[in-house]
Amino acid sequence: MRRPVIAGNWKMYKTANETRAFFRAFLSEVSRPTHCDILVAPPFPALPVAVECTRDFGIGIAAQNLYWEPEGAFTGEVSARMLVDAGCRAVIVGHSERRQFFGETDESVERKTKAALDSGLTPIVCVGELLSERESHLTEAVLKGQFEGGLAALTPAEFSRILIAYEPVWAIGTGRTATPEIAAEAHRYIRSLAAARFTSEHASALRILYGGSVKPENIKGLMLQKEIDGALVGGASLEPKSFAAIVNNW
Ligand code: PEP
Repeated sequence: MRRPVIAGNWKMYKTANETRAFFRAFLSEVSRPTHCDILVAPPFPALPVAVECTRDFGIGIAAQNLYWEPEGAFTGEVSARMLVDAGCRAVIVGHSERRQFFGETDESVERKTKAALDSGLTPIVCVGELLSERESHLTEAVLKGQFEGGLAALTPAEFSRILIAYEPVWAIGTGRTATPEIAAEAHRYIRSLAAARFTSEHASALRILYGGSVKPENIKGLMLQKEIDGALVGGASLEPKSFAAIVNNW
């Protein structure tokens, strides 16, 4: 039985004060969760406040990015060690916005994933196809390329510690959600890649989250698919009531 994960990606939204206000409201809406893991990924400057606000509630704080070197002359970058020191438990790697706007590649995803694992963080590795790729029937080829380029070099023990988020790029921030069936089909395919590269035990233990315009209104349909092990939520995680409704309805 895979334990579900509901993760919120705040992108470049919320100051430290806004983070405090969010958790004050959110924590009054969710009882200490026993049915799923909750992760929230605020921007870097709000991480310490988020850690402080959630310490007694079993909510994990994640970063949205990292650099693979432990320290050095890399202006503007943040290392895994620094994230651990700030109280993070997890980190998003290879989000499509980083691939699209900041030159993230499968190779950098692999290095970042390894660095996160080496420091004890849980990487949430994002994969997903563009609309043009889906329309050209290239979804599986894209997922295979991202899986092999970003994850195939992990050891089996490392692979067992990651989360994968399937985020079709055409569904992110567009209001256009993949149907539960489309999402489940992609998750099944990713699981088959995990079985082929690692073992069927690794594949069946792997938690794959769906991301792309998840909202309180569509969470039920997604959770009914046994292939879907949770959600990575962008826009709807910014508002305490809607993120709480997603958590409470899973
Ligand atoms: C995301 O940022 O990972 C995401 C899925 O965004 P949204 O839920 O807004 O589509």
